[in-house]
Amino acid sequence: MSTTPAEPSQKRIYLSPPHLDGREKEMLLNAFDSNWITTLGPHVEAFEQDVCSRFHLPAAVALASGTAGLHLALLNLGVAPGDEVFCSDLTFAASVNAITYCGAAPVLIDCDRATWNMDPALLAEALEARAKAGKLPRAVIVVDLYGQSADYDPILAACARYGIPVIEDAAEALGATYKGTPLGSFGAMGVFSFNGNKVITTSGGGMLVSKNEAYVARARYLATQARDPFPYYQHTAIGYNYRLSNLLAAVGRAQLEHLEAKVDKRRAISAFYEKALGSIEGITFMPEAPYGRSNRWLTCITIEHSRAGFTNEELRLELEKENIETRPVWKPMHLQPVFADRECIGGAVCAEIFAKGLCLPSGSGMTDADLDRVAGAILHYAKVSRG
Ligand SMILES: *Cc1c(COP(=O)(O)O)cnc(C)c1O
Repeated sequence: MSTTPAEPSQKRIYLSPPHLDGREKEMLLNAFDSNWITTLGPHVEAFEQDVCSRFHLPAAVALASGTAGLHLALLNLGVAPGDEVFCSDLTFAASVNAITYCGAAPVLIDCDRATWNMDPALLAEALEARAKAGKLPRAVIVVDLYGQSADYDPILAACARYGIPVIEDAAEALGATYKGTPLGSFGAMGVFSFNGNKVITTSGGGMLVSKNEAYVARARYLATQARDPFPYYQHTAIGYNYRLSNLLAAVGRAQLEHLEAKVDKRRAISAFYEKALGSIEGITFMPEAPYGRSNRWLTCITIEHSRAGFTNEELRLELEKENIETRPVWKPMHLQPVFADRECIGGAVCAEIFAKGLCLPSGSGMTDADLDRVAGAILHYAKVSRG
């Protein structure tokens, strides 16, 4: 994996580590002392209510992961073997894995250069072609990549034309907005992740939200082993053990209290990098679309080898020597061996972004000294590489 750091005395700067700077410990001990050491309890309900009131949503269900949320969202829409589900090509595998859990076939849709999110024109074309062929997808999963909203107006309009529901994979985009409205509420359902590397964390966890309370109620039922309302255990459906622990919900509540500050910090980190590195020949930042406010989960750059004099991988290895963690942009799903035989519409744009992209350390706990160290190392390497 990583090479030996040149200066082991330098502490490692991680890509996006957990950042616990509030009442997490206090809330966790409160949950501990209450003896609600299980997947239900007052903190689980309160965490759901906190999310609902913060984002003006009627209903939410706290889950063991964002992936579980995507799976339940697809089950809610009746996705089953024989169905197709369209999904963003440039994403983390969990978005597509959930489709395969239902036995359905993913169809991958390329992104556009302006947002790195699903290309609305390409989606509209693909739906039109599918409508003519009488083979429309059962649902569309739209990813809000690296905390940036997809362009929902044209996407929802294209899907509404054929009555196709949209699932919003907002796992990376908690706290971001589209035209002033928080993400998670645009599709039939939205899903957040509280994995350790996301904007806020419960160590592992997720949430499914919806304006439609019936979806949330059904997801809650399926997530708790599909237990029918009887004193004995009776089941009329196959359920899952997908609920969030009360201990972790307590941590999530404390994290959520500082969401705004964490988003502001990630945005400030992005702005810092753009200012410090923006003049390096051949480096371009992931664009922020004018229609929304990204949470800047990760600050991403692309590197034009011919102009910069180095590649993304060369820079990654160089920073690794300085004990600084960076990561390539998501490898598109159509390039994954496990999805190699899946249909992909377009794919060249996200392949190019993957070939040139790198994600920089973006954790909201970064200090000014950390930021100076990362920027300094990149500036130094850029200078050396250009001779
Ligand atoms: C993190 C992530 C997920 C999965 O969330 P987990 O909580 O880790 O299961 C899904 N989609 C995207 C785009 C993600 O980044």
